Amino acid sequence: MNTAAISHLYDLHVLPVYAPKIALVRGSGSRVWDADGKEYLDFTSGISVCNLGHCPEPVTAAVSAQAAQLVHVSNLFYNQPQAELAERLSTLSNGYKFFFANSGAEANEGLIKFARKWGNPQGKNQIIAMQHSFHGRTLGTLAATDKPAIREGFEPAMTGFSFVPFNDLQAVRDAITPETAAVLLEPVQAEGGVYPADQAYLTALRELCDKCGILLLCDEVQTGIGRCGAMFAHQLYGIQPDAFSLAKALGNGYPIGGFGVRPDWLDVLGVGSHATTFGGTPLACAAAGAVLDTIRDQNILANCIQAAQYLAEQLTQLTANSPSWHDVRHLGLLIGLPCDHAVSSVVAAAAKRGLLVLSAGANVLRLLPPLTVTSGEIDQAVAILADSLAEAQA
Ligand SMILES: *Cc1c(COP(=O)(O)O)cnc(C)c1O
Repeated sequence: MNTAAISHLYDLHVLPVYAPKIALVRGSGSRVWDADGKEYLDFTSGISVCNLGHCPEPVTAAVSAQAAQLVHVSNLFYNQPQAELAERLSTLSNGYKFFFANSGAEANEGLIKFARKWGNPQGKNQIIAMQHSFHGRTLGTLAATDKPAIREGFEPAMTGFSFVPFNDLQAVRDAITPETAAVLLEPVQAEGGVYPADQAYLTALRELCDKCGILLLCDEVQTGIGRCGAMFAHQLYGIQPDAFSLAKALGNGYPIGGFGVRPDWLDVLGVGSHATTFGGTPLACAAAGAVLDTIRDQNILANCIQAAQYLAEQLTQLTANSPSWHDVRHLGLLIGLPCDHAVSSVVAAAAKRGLLVLSAGANVLRLLPPLTVTSGEIDQAVAILADSLAEAQA
């Protein structure tokens, strides 16, 4: 099928909640190909899902082998890949214990449920979230998401959340009440426009939560699994959240999410308190295990840090010559370029030239290359972006 034929079937049979233009049929490393044979450099990585690029050999091999051995058992039974994945994550996080789900929203639902289960016996069940946050599209995570456009029409919203400005410690202090159970935030607000937390803010927020007896919850669905240059972004800040969520890149495209709970709080969620059918299946955990092994074996974090520095330098030069662009915000390879005008024309111009990029809100261009990206690919992407900015300006 070509793009027109696929698009036609979508028009007929897929609920029109998305508005795609390109039909992708194959991927390898940093590149994807569409149904008409056109090649693209993919600086979206499936929205920070394919952090190892498309179809990395060790992950494909692990998924293939596990698919032939045992795909699914319920959580009424042990399975070895889940045990091994949890062990790897525990080692990487200094002893957290993990629950596995299937998506980012579900992982964050788990964080919210954990905080309420912890707080309710003390009369605390309110959560302070951040303005411009994004935590998912389920009713619970939507209630923690400060984005009116995607909440509209789905009222009544779940109660129990308030919002404060990001990177503003005094605002959190002022919002705390005797009913506050937790503060929930993304270490880098991604969908909200790529705003990294300030170091001093997160350090002080951790201290404030400790002082007030409040949980600190990190949504690492987009920032985790190496995207920011460490396995989890909170490690870059030297803080330990009470619990944190993961999803997107954990399976490099095989759906898996989950959350980790700090050793202090292992008695909060006991037998029967939380569950899901598909969470932590042998197949999902085999994929995620291979992802974590590959990150270690192929020095992926070092490449991410190096590539991020090089790409940020190139982008700083590029934006210095473009009047509408003023800044390069990034932590590792989670990169945002704020613009005076809507960036959709730049996204379209780049795709036409064979480079896939994203936006984060209307006015921020977002780049999420795979963590395996090479300097040659970066040079190629920056050259295409330069032409795309020029075209959008004209
Ligand atoms: C993508 C994302 C989510 C939602 O994940 P889904 O898998 O789409 O449910 C939640 N939080 C953050 C920070 C995300 O980037």
